[in-house]
Amino acid sequence: MQEGVVQYLAQVLRGLSGGAEPVRLLSDTLAGAVAAASGRHGIIVGMMDGALSVVAATGTTPRLVMETAQASITEGRLTRGRDQATGSGAIAAPVRVGQRIVGAIAVGGDPLRLDGAPLPLFADAAGLALARRPSAGQCSVEEFSESLVHVATDLDQATVMTRIFEAAGRLFGALGGFCVVPAAEGWRVAHYQGITAANLRAAAQHPDFRAFVASANLRVEPPNHPVVAGLATGTETAVSVPLVAAGRRHGFLVLLLCESPSPAAQSALRAFADHAAMTLRSSELAQRLRDHEQRLAAVVHSSPNPVVLLDDRGQFVLVNGAAAELFHLPEAFAVGQPVAGRLGHEALERLVAEEGEGQLEVALGTPPDRLYLAVTRRMRAGGGRDLGRILVLQDVTKERETDKLKNDFVSVIGHELRTPLTVVKGYVKMLARRGVGIDEASLDSVVTALSTNTARLERLIEDLLFVSAIESRRPTLDLQPVDIGQVLDEFGEGRVVVKRPRRPIAVQLDRQKLDQILHHLLDNALKYTDGEIVINVVDGDEDLEIQVDDSGPGIYSGDLPNLFERFRQLDGSSTRVHGGTGLGLYICRRLVELQGGRIWCESRLGVGSRFAFTLPKDGPVPART
Ligand code: ADP
Repeated sequence: MQEGVVQYLAQVLRGLSGGAEPVRLLSDTLAGAVAAASGRHGIIVGMMDGALSVVAATGTTPRLVMETAQASITEGRLTRGRDQATGSGAIAAPVRVGQRIVGAIAVGGDPLRLDGAPLPLFADAAGLALARRPSAGQCSVEEFSESLVHVATDLDQATVMTRIFEAAGRLFGALGGFCVVPAAEGWRVAHYQGITAANLRAAAQHPDFRAFVASANLRVEPPNHPVVAGLATGTETAVSVPLVAAGRRHGFLVLLLCESPSPAAQSALRAFADHAAMTLRSSELAQRLRDHEQRLAAVVHSSPNPVVLLDDRGQFVLVNGAAAELFHLPEAFAVGQPVAGRLGHEALERLVAEEGEGQLEVALGTPPDRLYLAVTRRMRAGGGRDLGRILVLQDVTKERETDKLKNDFVSVIGHELRTPLTVVKGYVKMLARRGVGIDEASLDSVVTALSTNTARLERLIEDLLFVSAIESRRPTLDLQPVDIGQVLDEFGEGRVVVKRPRRPIAVQLDRQKLDQILHHLLDNALKYTDGEIVINVVDGDEDLEIQVDDSGPGIYSGDLPNLFERFRQLDGSSTRVHGGTGLGLYICRRLVELQGGRIWCESRLGVGSRFAFTLPKDGPVPART
């Protein structure tokens, strides 16, 4: 062996036995390796979390040297490399701690001069130096607290775990380990480092695994403990320490150390574990907080009502999709912006700026065509601290419309009832006054007037009762075979003309309900025109179409879509020329649909209207159950 090689090795060994700084040891080892291998430069690389990092180097390192180091780790033996372009060469040997490859030592230089023989010796020396990373007894208080601070600088659980192991490596020379945390059924491994998954799985099968890992106090086991031997390579001591914070066990930390920890190192390990547990607890709480926030945001965002959350300074915190659309706010960009001037509605902005809670009905949209009930509520923290306010808008357009319809309906009904009643009352008074002395001609007209008006009252009340009944239950049908021509002929009197084929047309229908439909349509037609009204019959293959044509004022096309709705009166004014409740066409539609048909209106202003409906000739198709 060359004398230089011996000298370098002797220096490294002296350093190792004299407790020299690992960094110093590594650079001495490397210098020795470069000289002994007749190289120009070199590196020592270590495996950290599966990635290579340079732990010692002589100046800059050519790529070839790094690649050769990598190759020797992968192949697990002395490896040579050569760069054809530059003509330079490299040689590398894996560095082992026990049986485990933890890095490589590589030297670069002239390929003809590079001597690989001494390199394994220096690789072993580097292994010894790496295994002698600082233990807790050697690190300073500053280093200890700095490492703890580093662990706690992130609240993401995965990052915290990685940092715990980084710090354990720095402070205690831990070569690897794992962490178990509570799971639904017992415990699960949350993180492992420097151990293969296969080794960990195999060790977990051992009957002593549980007792070793989940021990109540810090526990140290030697390399020959069956679980430790299964995890490591036979040269490492394992330490298990519970992670306890705020009286709750958050898991266990198991570290593989190069040497058995001294009592001082054990105390440091306990303090380290306490700190790690606190950080894990914080990360757990932070995660719960993030989840909570996410859930809250999901609730707000899924609301079809516009919702805006403001902080105590009146700035947007959250704007859901419906609100963003209504106020033309870019959802994400609005956050943090002041609300003033952004809602486009002065009264609404005043409402959210006010101290107390309140509500307001506002017309919004472009053009402002929808009515919203805007409600603001204060949000307070447990101790009463102001957290801002929430603004929720509820679209009440339909409700207000229905309210108006109902109010109009009540006044119309009152009017409709009063008219015939006044007539009846007048005639009754007259009869009482004149008594038996009334002449026959007057009596006749009195009786006619009384019967017409009481019939009108009766029909009105029947209509009201019918509508209320139809809303609560489906009326039954009493189908019977009829000749439609004959039925319609009964309506052909006065101004009503029936035009129908002379042959019989057999249909299955509810006679009483057909009468009700025709009465309503003819009543309307007679009311709106002084001219002739024509009933037509169109005999189709399956359906029969009945048309009622008048030459009245006609209906504006914009009113046609709502004509068959409840309480719809096109002339809603109190000075309506024609009476009516707005129920007739609604009743017609329900009765036609009940029998499986449909109803519609075709109309031209100033020309007249056609109300037509179909009925299936064989009766309605029975509904499937
Ligand atoms: P009403 O009892 O008020 O007549 P309807 O439901 O029968 O209620 O009719 C609703 C509205 O449709 C009426 O108020 C009227 O404005 C319009 N209408 C119905 N039939 C005719 C018609 N033949 N010609 C013109 N307008 C009609």
